[in-house]
Amino acid sequence: MGVVEGDTLSQTPTYDACIIGSGAAGGVVAKELCEGGAKVIMLEAGREVPPGKFLSHKWPYELPYRGLRGEKQAPFYQGGVSTSIRYEDCDSVSVDRIRVLGGRTVHWNAVVLRYAQRDFKGWSADGIEEDWPLTYDELEPYYERIEQMIGVCGQDDGLEIVPAGKHYLPPLPWRCSEHILHRATNGMGIPLISVRKAVLTTVYDSRPPCHYCGHCMSGCDVGALFNSAVAMLPKAQRTGNFTLRQNALAREILVDREGLARGVSFVDTQAKREQEVKARVVVVCCATVESARLLLNSRSPRHPNGLANSNGVVGRYLHGHLGGGVDIFLKELEGAPPFNQDGATDHVYIPRYNHLAGEKDYAGGWGLQVNFSSYMFPNHASRIGGYGVAYKERVRKMQPGYLMLGAFGKTEARPENYVTVEPHQVDENGISIPVVHFRFSENDFALWRDKNRSLMEICSNLKGEVFPDFGEAPGGFASHEVGTIRMGKNPRTSVLNGFCQAREVKNLFVTDGSCFTSSSEKNPTLTIMALSLRAADYIKEQRRRGEL
Ligand SMILES: Cc1cc2nc3c(=O)[nH]c(=O)nc-3n(C[C@H](O)[C@H](O)[C@H](O)COP(=O)(O)OP(=O)(O)OC[C@H]3O[C@@H](n4cnc5c(N)ncnc54)[C@H](O)[C@@H]3O)c2cc1C
Ligand code: SF4
Repeated sequence: MGVVEGDTLSQTPTYDACIIGSGAAGGVVAKELCEGGAKVIMLEAGREVPPGKFLSHKWPYELPYRGLRGEKQAPFYQGGVSTSIRYEDCDSVSVDRIRVLGGRTVHWNAVVLRYAQRDFKGWSADGIEEDWPLTYDELEPYYERIEQMIGVCGQDDGLEIVPAGKHYLPPLPWRCSEHILHRATNGMGIPLISVRKAVLTTVYDSRPPCHYCGHCMSGCDVGALFNSAVAMLPKAQRTGNFTLRQNALAREILVDREGLARGVSFVDTQAKREQEVKARVVVVCCATVESARLLLNSRSPRHPNGLANSNGVVGRYLHGHLGGGVDIFLKELEGAPPFNQDGATDHVYIPRYNHLAGEKDYAGGWGLQVNFSSYMFPNHASRIGGYGVAYKERVRKMQPGYLMLGAFGKTEARPENYVTVEPHQVDENGISIPVVHFRFSENDFALWRDKNRSLMEICSNLKGEVFPDFGEAPGGFASHEVGTIRMGKNPRTSVLNGFCQAREVKNLFVTDGSCFTSSSEKNPTLTIMALSLRAADYIKEQRRRGEL
């Protein structure tokens, strides 16, 4: 990719747009704006890890911790990013801050689900939170476009809770344990469908199909898994309108006398030099915690509380998914000859079903992802106890019966959960670190308890040894944190309008998950990309009209 050497603000050209962050959100905006003729510079704090350098296909015995402790993902978390954060007054949650070209799409699991009509209507449907400033119908054309852009396998199952598109690649075939699970859930009136994933099951967009190695979450070295660095940025690059700065950690968004964004100050983390770029529009795509941190660190006389933060909402309403699932070792498959069932991690999905059983005393629900953990690693070995030949025999016998159900549940978007910055503690580049404050609500606890009960009920309809992973209380956020720079109808409780545009700074946009008003049980990234696409269209239109 083209890389420029940086200079001071006065010497550099003024770009039409500066995009900060190259993940799911940044990739979409870059491609769209460049193809629309805008001159774009992207600042990315990390640098490229070429697919040839991924550790996905390393055998456990080739790695000191056998692939545990995030060994295979470590190259994607560059610098001291994992440690330059504090959790204070917090339940058991963690946020995922990556530093690599492509962001978390480099090693995500790629389950892509549309939000349903009701997911945009927290207040009118469930009486909690607020309605979004846009509806499903308004976002639907963008879901359709983004699904075609990234390539999604799956099918339309006619379920209102998981609205479907019109252009899916063939679904992933079901494995033995998934057929057995289907038998059980069918008897309980719980739907089970083919998963929708940004994984190619045929050649698509000049990328090869999946070869079912099961290593998506360590990085896909052939590009069958959608990755912004592989499937989006090269398209931006081909327009000749794209400039990429890697190792460029944005420190502050700079403003002019009117308080509008005029550029970005960043640290070249290799040269350890502060530099600046000028831009007419700034699009923030650093992900939920980093984007809030950037705005809060961007203080000026016009924006003394941080950029676009006169109402104090920036950083607030942090939330994400609560988790906790079960591993089951099915008797029916016990002792079967070992064979490679890894596939493309999940092949089926259990959409939200708690609403089918009538009113609950809490709002929201959960979905169940199935078998996203690798078959290669004997996850049960440390749990069953014993030693010697008999122990090894038992581990081997159980392995073919492995079935995993991973729950992703809604949490409530509340102003009392927030990210702030710590002025007295800085990272290795001298930038104030983020501090996370989060407590689960009564609603979250009630949902979590009902989810655990329901999972055990499903297990009781399956014959096998069950290992629940619920803990004593909910935990989060499964890399699905959202909500800190939210869009909304009410200017007192939101920062952005429905086009991801800051109300107080009209040439500032935030399109990553921090813009969510609330969240559902569905994984957020397809919605992040659809919102980014919509924001990009809006920016193009506003530029055409001379408004930006
Ligand atoms: C293992 C795993 C599995 C997942 N599975 C799924 C799934 O199945 N479905 C789903 O919907 N989601 C999944 N996710 C979550 C998904 O990856 C994220 O929701 C998505 O990548 C968010 O996109 P983003 O652009 O907002 O942020 P990111 O992809 O995190 O990108 C942010 C980028 O900004 C850069 N950056 C941050 N701060 C700065 C700064 N100050 N200056 C410059 N650059 C900066 C980062 O280096 C990064 O490249 C998964 C994540 C992981 C880790
Ligand atoms: S399972 Fe398929 S999509 Fe996942 S890493 Fe392997 S080839 Fe890529």
